Amino acid sequence: MVLVYAMATPHPQYEPHFVACWGRPGQTLLFGGSVLDELTAAQIAIRHAANCHAGPRPLPVRPDDTTARAMVVERLRALRPTTGSRQISIGVLRGDLLHIQRSPKWLYETLQHLSHAEPELVRMRRAPRGYPGAPDFELLA
Ligand SMILES: [Zn+2]
Repeated sequence: MVLVYAMATPHPQYEPHFVACWGRPGQTLLFGGSVLDELTAAQIAIRHAANCHAGPRPLPVRPDDTTARAMVVERLRALRPTTGSRQISIGVLRGDLLHIQRSPKWLYETLQHLSHAEPELVRMRRAPRGYPGAPDFELLA
């Protein structure tokens, strides 16, 4: 079972698509980078489906807000650098979108909230420079 999904952004010309094989338990597999267009994503999905031996699985249940927030925190902790800081955008959560099932706006607001609630984990950077996908946050070691 191969899924193609997009992360909607306010900029329709920049709407990254993702390809996931949903047949295997555990982690969602992603194919390609974060900036696949729809056609390329579909081609990758069709190629993969021809050779995939994984069985069908139901889609995950949409978690409540508390659980979804905990998933975000868990992912951010896993992405923490060992020293210094690491610039990130909400795109770092693309592999978790199927599980979190929230909009980019929700992800952005959650990271903003975390920068106040967990300032030792994530820090808000200055306002983004006007292009989508720009790093807006910093993860701290
Ligand atoms: Zn597969």
